[in-house]
Amino acid sequence: MKITDIKLTRLRVPLDPPFFAAWDPNPRTEFTATLVTVETDAGVVGYGSGDTMDGFEAYRHLFIGTDPMQILDQVKRIETINFHGGRYWPLEAALWDIIGKVANLPVATLFGGSKTKLAAYASFGELRKPKDRAKAAEAAHARGFQACKIRISRDRLSEGIESVRETRKALGPDFGIAVDMNQMWRMSGDIDNALPLNKVRAVAEQLHELGVMWIEEPLPQFDIEGIKTIRSEVGVAISGGEMVRSMPELADLLSANTFDIYQPDVVLAVGLYRARQVAEMAALKHRLFTPHSWTNGLGVLANLHVSAGVGGGPYFEFPYDPPGWTIERRDFFLKPIDIDSAGFVHVPKAPGLGVELDLDAIKRFTI
Ligand SMILES: [Mg+2]
Repeated sequence: MKITDIKLTRLRVPLDPPFFAAWDPNPRTEFTATLVTVETDAGVVGYGSGDTMDGFEAYRHLFIGTDPMQILDQVKRIETINFHGGRYWPLEAALWDIIGKVANLPVATLFGGSKTKLAAYASFGELRKPKDRAKAAEAAHARGFQACKIRISRDRLSEGIESVRETRKALGPDFGIAVDMNQMWRMSGDIDNALPLNKVRAVAEQLHELGVMWIEEPLPQFDIEGIKTIRSEVGVAISGGEMVRSMPELADLLSANTFDIYQPDVVLAVGLYRARQVAEMAALKHRLFTPHSWTNGLGVLANLHVSAGVGGGPYFEFPYDPPGWTIERRDFFLKPIDIDSAGFVHVPKAPGLGVELDLDAIKRFTI
C-alpha cells in the first residue's frame, strides 16, 4: 500500500463566550484545528488531528509513495523532522487510523486491547474564584465525573489552593482531585521566573493535606532533583512529561524515576508508537501512564485509544470546563465524544480511531 496524498484542512470556530485558558495570557475568541487526511492507493483513508501541522507542506513529499503500514519507519521519518520543523504526530494518528481500518480493528486493540473504557476526569482549564470552581466541580460530578483537575497559576497560588479546599469541602473525601501547575513547558513568550523550590514545597504540602491525587508539573523542565525532593519530602504523587519533545528525554526521565505518572500526549509529544513504549517502561517500574489530551476531539480520541490499549489510567484526561470549554467546542468537527452516567469514556468499536467526521461543520469552519 502507498500513500498517494496528505491533505491538511485548516479549521476555525469562533468562541463566544471566549475561553480563558489558565496557561495562556490571551483569552481565546476562536479555536483552530488542522485535520490531516491521508489517502492511499488502496482507497483506505485515515484521519488525524491535535496539533497545527504548521510548516508540514515542506516535508509532505517525504511521505508520498511510502507504505503507511510500515509504521516504525514512518515514526522515525516524523522524528527526523522534529528537529528541523514541527512535531507532526497527528500524521501518525492518521496512519494508525489506516492500519486499524486495514486490520478491521480499533487502534486500542492494536495497542494491547487492555480496556474498553476509562474513568474520565473533568480537566478544567480556566482560573476561577474558589467558590465558582467548587460549583463547577459539583456540576461535573452531577453529570457523572468522579474526578477533576484544577489549574493553579504561579501568580495566584493562594486562590488556587483555596479552590481545591472548596472543591474538597463540597464533594467530600472520595472525589478525585488532581492539580496542574503547568511548569514544565511555557507558552511562547512567557519569560517570567518559575517558582522557587521552597515555595513549591509549601504549596505541595497544603495540597497533599487536601488529599490531591497528584500534582502535575510543579517545577520547570527537567528539574528532576527538585521533583524528587518534593516527592520524597512531601509524599505527594507528581506527574509530568506531557510536552516532552523526544523519546530519549522521556527515557531519561523514566530512568531517573522522576514521576509517579507519565503523561506524554500522543499527538503533541512523541507520537502514539513511542507513547506505548513510555507506558510499558513506566509499567515495568510500577508507575502510571495517563496521557495529556488537551487538544481537539480527534486528538482526545487518539490518546484514548493508546491509553485504553496499554492499560493506562486509572483516569483519562477529559478536557471539559463549560461554558468556555464544552464537548461541542472541543469536538466541533466530529461527532462529540461524551462520558456515560458513571463517568466513563468508551473506546469506539469501529476499526481505526473510529472518528465520525461532521462534514457540514468541516465545510462551515474551513478557513
Ligand atoms: Mg498538564
